[in-house]
Amino acid sequence: MKAIEMTKPRGRQFFANPGPTNIPDSVLRAMDRPSIDFNDPDFQEVYADSFEGVKRVLRTSHHLFMYNASGHGAWEASLTNLLSPGETILVLETGFFSDQWAEMGEGHGLTVRTLPADRRMGIDLEALRAMLAADTAREIKAICAVHNETATGLMLPIDRIRGLIDATGHQALFLVDTISSLGSLDFRMDEWQVDCVVGGSQKGLMLPTGMSFTGVSDKGMEAHARAGLKRHYFDWSMMLKRPQKSFIGTLPVNLFYGLRESIRLLEDEGLDNVVARHTRLAEATRRAVKVWSGNNGPQLYCLNPTRYSDSVTAILMPEGHDAEALRKIARGRFNVSLGGGLGPLNGKVFRIGHLGDLNEPMLLGALAAVEMALRIGGVPHGRGGVDAAMEFLEG
Ligand code: PLP
Repeated sequence: MKAIEMTKPRGRQFFANPGPTNIPDSVLRAMDRPSIDFNDPDFQEVYADSFEGVKRVLRTSHHLFMYNASGHGAWEASLTNLLSPGETILVLETGFFSDQWAEMGEGHGLTVRTLPADRRMGIDLEALRAMLAADTAREIKAICAVHNETATGLMLPIDRIRGLIDATGHQALFLVDTISSLGSLDFRMDEWQVDCVVGGSQKGLMLPTGMSFTGVSDKGMEAHARAGLKRHYFDWSMMLKRPQKSFIGTLPVNLFYGLRESIRLLEDEGLDNVVARHTRLAEATRRAVKVWSGNNGPQLYCLNPTRYSDSVTAILMPEGHDAEALRKIARGRFNVSLGGGLGPLNGKVFRIGHLGDLNEPMLLGALAAVEMALRIGGVPHGRGGVDAAMEFLEG
């Protein structure tokens, strides 16, 4: 029989990348409109609805500042608006993204301490308690936690960390990166007394990349009044003088039409239901990976079941097998886009993003493509991962 010629894959691409994520059709339609003056009363209504909507998703009644920037911009805003040169921050090690946030802090002249962690297990909460208790001089001015480490599929228990900070009586600001958790995992800014939340548009909010934001507590605003790091474009005080109380410069008007729609979708489903859907799809993914891990196959990178991420699963390839080659097969043969390994995990890990606008068949399609790619690529694995996922989802 004549071999099938490889052609450009047809059909819709199954996008199982942890960010950006799938954009719902209704969000695309909402953004597909002519430009509008951002001072136009019609736009002001869309802006106000979206602004309040983001606060509801953050579960806060406090302050919100938004930026024309990807998540890095909101990271920079969080540090430069809250801290002064030479001050100490404590970064809880999770992986690639905690490293990057720490590096940014150093770049801004902060003294960065890190609570080290086994990256496959996550930080030891007892070690954090001891570190905070030992800081009797209260040198640590801010604690930075990445809620969901997108590079490894590991989640931090933000509520427990809050409780632990309180138990030691430490007064440090609590900064949380929710870039790959907001709108996907349970997050409660006010209840967990988070002083600064960093979020972005392109993951759980199901929008294109390009807009990010920070939620800020009253304690955060007090710290801002004293903070001496240099800033201009991201300066919250400058923003408060603008009619929109956010953004320096032109507002991304079309994104706001999309944001209003994505918030409508999230609230229509119900935030608790959104979280439950993510938990369910994540568990189905893990069931598949656990089957594949048989026969010395690929395995879950995260080894701590209490810290499994419900928005992204990182999968470690067996020794001697290249994750990039597997991704290439999935993309080239089946038009399925998987996430790659970041930093030192490049080539060792691939990632399945299961956050945002996703349902069972979309996930199963991605899992089936992975299982086929494992066979085609000659990667040892246990067979029947997709069956295990289906069995779980049938229940
Ligand atoms: N923090 C986390 C947890 C992320 O996943 C990312 C990006 O994926 C970032 C920060 C950086 O955000 P951006 O790439 O939008 O600048």
